Amino acid sequence: MPEVILQGQQLSLLYQEGTEKTFAVDHVDIKIHKGEFVGVMGPSGSGKSSLLYLLSGLKRPTEGTVIYQDTDMHMLPEPKLMGLRLRDFGFVFQQPYLMTYLSALENVLLAAPCGGAQSVMQAHEVMQQLGLHHLESRRPYKLSGGEKQRVCVARATAHQPDILFADEPTASLDRTNGEAVMKLIAGYRSRGAVLVVSHDPAMLRECDTMYHMHDGHLEL
Ligand code: ADP
Ligand code: MG
Repeated sequence: MPEVILQGQQLSLLYQEGTEKTFAVDHVDIKIHKGEFVGVMGPSGSGKSSLLYLLSGLKRPTEGTVIYQDTDMHMLPEPKLMGLRLRDFGFVFQQPYLMTYLSALENVLLAAPCGGAQSVMQAHEVMQQLGLHHLESRRPYKLSGGEKQRVCVARATAHQPDILFADEPTASLDRTNGEAVMKLIAGYRSRGAVLVVSHDPAMLRECDTMYHMHDGHLEL
């Protein structure tokens, strides 16, 4: 069995509004191994996005820990956690959030951790791989849904993250574009690991491990 690269232990996210408490994530244990493509399915509101936010350091758990390699991520002060996320993680959001006033290439460069010529080269390279090289100077309003989502994948991967998180990355795409985007995302598992949330089992066909979420609980 390959080594564990990312691990959630008794992970919880509790939302409290007045006297009402909701466990978006309810004491979840998960181990993600090197090279693993993990799929997460589950009904709307079951806590899939919340789990991805906790594991990727976008949100702090109310209980439990996330261990990335040997680091207890949520013990890190905010600037250190941000640095780790920027360097080692990539995140593809459900909606292709792009800056409307920037070109596709500039949008990809937004996530470049160090900037400079090396980042520009990496951005060109990944856009080439994603079939976006001829669209680099286009603004988002002149791109199709599939092209926009591929720009988001390029932005999440140009710095060669070790772990790629994707939250329903194909939700706004037709089947053909969805499959193309999933193929790209799945290919990144060899760098470290890939975690994908989807409603559509067809998009997770190739995953190594499939989890289901219900009311904040994670089950195989
Ligand atoms: P999914 O991605 O599976 O649709 P989410 O992780 O977005 O689920 O949400 C899980 C649960 O947490 C839901 O019951 C949702 O209403 C609740 N929730 C999400 N965000 C908030 C918030 N900011 N405040 C209060 N409750 C929230
Ligand atoms: Mg969600």
